[in-house]
Amino acid sequence: MSTRWIFTVAEMISFATEVRSQTKTLALVPTMGALHEGHLSLVRQARIQCDVVVVSIFVNPAQFSPTEDFARYPRNPEKDFELLESAKVHAVLAPPVEEVFPAGFSTFVDPGHIATVWEGAQRPGHFRGVATVVLRLFNIVRPDIAFFGQKDFQQVVIIRRLVEDLNLPVRIVVCPIVREADGLARSSRNVYLSAEDRRAAVLLSRSLKRAEGLAQSGEADVETLLAEIRRMFAAEPRLQLDYAGIVDPATLEPVTHALPGSIALVAARLGKVRLIDNLIFGPPGSSPEMKLQLALTAPQPDRESPATPRPEIDSLRLKIENCRDCAAVSSVSLPAREFLFKYLKQDYPNLDVIRVLVIGGCAPMGPSDSPYRHPEQPNPFSTRLYELLGVRDFAEFKASFALTDAARCHAVGNRVDERTLEYCAKHLREELKLFPNVQTIVILGEYAYLQFQRHILGRERTSIKAFPELLKTEGWAQESVQLPCYGERDVRLLYCYHPTFENKRSPSVAAYLGSKP
Ligand code: AMP
Repeated sequence: MSTRWIFTVAEMISFATEVRSQTKTLALVPTMGALHEGHLSLVRQARIQCDVVVVSIFVNPAQFSPTEDFARYPRNPEKDFELLESAKVHAVLAPPVEEVFPAGFSTFVDPGHIATVWEGAQRPGHFRGVATVVLRLFNIVRPDIAFFGQKDFQQVVIIRRLVEDLNLPVRIVVCPIVREADGLARSSRNVYLSAEDRRAAVLLSRSLKRAEGLAQSGEADVETLLAEIRRMFAAEPRLQLDYAGIVDPATLEPVTHALPGSIALVAARLGKVRLIDNLIFGPPGSSPEMKLQLALTAPQPDRESPATPRPEIDSLRLKIENCRDCAAVSSVSLPAREFLFKYLKQDYPNLDVIRVLVIGGCAPMGPSDSPYRHPEQPNPFSTRLYELLGVRDFAEFKASFALTDAARCHAVGNRVDERTLEYCAKHLREELKLFPNVQTIVILGEYAYLQFQRHILGRERTSIKAFPELLKTEGWAQESVQLPCYGERDVRLLYCYHPTFENKRSPSVAAYLGSKP
């Protein structure tokens, strides 16, 4: 495979259209070039998660103010291309400015208040330029997933907001910061540091680490932590601190007490070079991915709509498709457009008739694996499912059953990790509300069982019976529970082996599905 250079918007659109027509997933990694290991980590993640990877290289004039370093920003197209070719990137979009901002261009995206604090306060208009170019790139490439670095955390928050506010059909994956051996965050601007400045620059990451260390040993008071960061900077005359803050990762508002998931931000200047860095506080020993996960899943302001008894299918579909909660570390095996909800709308004119909800393991790995996709040709899963439920065919199935999954987009192969189950349970809880008259929930296989026990019923891990143990005698098991979404009434849960994942089969549970618990 050779990497293709693309210089025009028209060629990019036709390349992406071709990729989509082959039902392949498309990744976009937006960059400004002068690539380093930080960028390449995004590219590698993109390669893992998508079939086709496009890297854009565009030094965006709209995000530099007239006094900033647009003209001096490092550019190294030949080396970039070599790196991207060795990373097996499919296409590099490197348009000239007039392709992205043709004459007459006049529409800009204003990200609101969040773009006016921290970096936004130092660089007025910066995020307006970023949001505008990112939206334009999204519309040109129309990627399934776009990859961004934690390094620019405020940018991440703004892009996630952009995607949510404008309902953009793209998933955002955030990757941890790649650092030099001494801790300095990799940055294209590091090449401009003199040897002395390079030595001093390590203070950004060192001060953040120090604050985290203090927080981990019990010092939660943000003023004390910030005072320590400022003290360290004050001792290094080469560095001028622009700001240091410890903030809520969702709002970027300062917090008074540092908690796991709080994020410390610093920006400083060494002569003409301006550097930024950040660090997410986590429990001792937590990995960068785990910390990122903590920050990205912090409660969002206004994100959860007030408890509506019955969510709209469309809004829930969007929430699931745009869910980023596992994004930092997830692998997506199924394009978002293939999700169940397409079928839910198509096959169920009235969700009130559903009496039995079936929860499978992972969302189907390929479109043809879904019983909804080709109802006339049952596959091994649907055939065994119909046997288990005692229905003859899809028509009979959809008359009173609906099928959903424990894990939707993240599971690869047969192993589903705990985090995926936890985050997908958030959607499942919402989804249960779509079916107000459900009396029975059939839970297929160990992952769906563990998810239900831990994250829907909220049971302690130690109190949950091992799945093989539970099913050992009868090949299935049942219990009656109350679920908050259904008020005080009882719902019957039937636990069965998964029809295709496990080598054991449950006997038909048809006799237990009809009557009320
Ligand atoms: P830039 O070329 O600086 O606009 O960066 C392009 C993308 O790479 C952005 O999403 C950055 O956050 C990300 N990035 C830059 N430096 C790093 C790093 N050291 N580690 C991880 N991601 C990075």
